[in-house]
Amino acid sequence: MTEASAHCYLIALGSNRRVPAVGRPRAVLDAAVAALAEKGWQVEAVSRWIESRPLGPSLRRYANGAALIAGDLDPPEALESLQAIERSFGRERRGQRWRSRTLDLDIVLWSGGAWHSADLAIPHPAFRERDFVLRPAAQIAPHWRDPVSGRTLRQLAQGGLPSA
Ligand code: AMP
Repeated sequence: MTEASAHCYLIALGSNRRVPAVGRPRAVLDAAVAALAEKGWQVEAVSRWIESRPLGPSLRRYANGAALIAGDLDPPEALESLQAIERSFGRERRGQRWRSRTLDLDIVLWSGGAWHSADLAIPHPAFRERDFVLRPAAQIAPHWRDPVSGRTLRQLAQGGLPSA
């Protein structure tokens, strides 16, 4: 029997480019999940993939989804692990904000509550406004509570006002 992992992360996945030898964006997300497992993450749940409109001027549609992964890495090392996977899919970081993205992996929430360090903020600062993050996230972790707003992912995905 394996030991329980120290931490759980809710991550958002997105892609809007084909990758040679992998395929279209949905296939890229499938391959990213396989890469997470290969890197030693325990993949506990994966949402269905949805399609969303591009942000900014890019014309390519996105495939988006969410996954729950468990492991022993603290947030900075977890981010490095995700960025290594992004790089292995050919994503280059050259400062253009809205360019096409082969693969984007963001940390939305983690089991340790809020985290702030130089390059990392958890909860992800923009996730509450992103339907393409909230819908898949609420599918796999509806009862997980955002430590900042106190609302569950299901409530945030439904977009209603918090009950008094
Ligand atoms: P982006 O190009 O939108 O994927 O932004 C990537 C940068 O955002 C990374 O270099 C991270 O240092 C930073 N970042 C801050 N908070 C997060 C987070 N929760 N998940 C992923 N990246 C983050």
